[in-house]
Amino acid sequence: MPGLLDGKTAVVMGVANRWSIATSIAKALHGHGARLALTYEGERTKDEVEKLARELGQGLALHCDVASDDSIASLRAVLESEYKRIDVIVHSLAFARKEELAGKYFATTRDGFRIALDISAYSLVALCRELAPIVASGGSVMAMTYLGSVRAVSNYNVMGVAKAALEASVRYCAVDMGEQGVRVNAISAGPIKTASARAVSGFSNILGEVAQRAPLRRNVGAEDVGNVAVFLSSDLSSAVTGQVIYVDAGYSIVGV
Ligand code: NAD
Repeated sequence: MPGLLDGKTAVVMGVANRWSIATSIAKALHGHGARLALTYEGERTKDEVEKLARELGQGLALHCDVASDDSIASLRAVLESEYKRIDVIVHSLAFARKEELAGKYFATTRDGFRIALDISAYSLVALCRELAPIVASGGSVMAMTYLGSVRAVSNYNVMGVAKAALEASVRYCAVDMGEQGVRVNAISAGPIKTASARAVSGFSNILGEVAQRAPLRRNVGAEDVGNVAVFLSSDLSSAVTGQVIYVDAGYSIVGV
């Protein structure tokens, strides 16, 4: 039986290690037939990303630090020369200083705010603009977000504000890229134990709360997110754009 993503080329950004949500997404897309290019932020994550690219067969491992417009432009140049056209972009990355992810939100510094919003939200805008010319019609862009964008979640602080900006950017980019038949969506994942999540003070309390109160009475795994990423990458979601799709065992719908 042909794979759902046969013939599609996906760029997956945000693999740091085997626990990363991007790792599960890359494996899921590969499992459904996509050809992959993985990106790494810097030397710290290069080996891990190269290892995963080897494991997934023909995958490329390319450098891209989203804080730099030059780095994004170099990524585009390599993708264009290797593939001419790409079909899927997965933005699975974020950053805020650890000290901004604890205590009072209004203690956020001007510089901490700027860095969190730049890396975690503006990066999607820059990537969409730079890569738009090489994304094929029918293509799909997706970004990872979290409930802290619409609720005040303890200690999530400036990252919640960055995710609100990211979700709004998804809607605006969906309008811009819709003209060329490309969809842009966000996946709002429930809490998953990864390096970034552990930087949020009291993260394990959030996991406990979700397991108790979510309609499905469990936490989600990165594989749950990977499966929805396959749907969003595929033609099955051809009329879905500008949306935030919750993959959170239903936690976000529960009231008192
Ligand atoms: P992770 O630490 O495994 O991944 C974060 C990635 O961001 C890393 O690969 C890191 O290299 C990358 N990154 C940071 N700064 C970068 C830069 N300047 N340029 C390029 N890449 C950079 O953590 P994760 O939990 O897999 O996070 C992936 C995404 O999922 C993030 O957007 C995160 O906010 C989101 N998310 C995570 C959870 C969770 O509970 N883990 C829940 C909802 C959403």
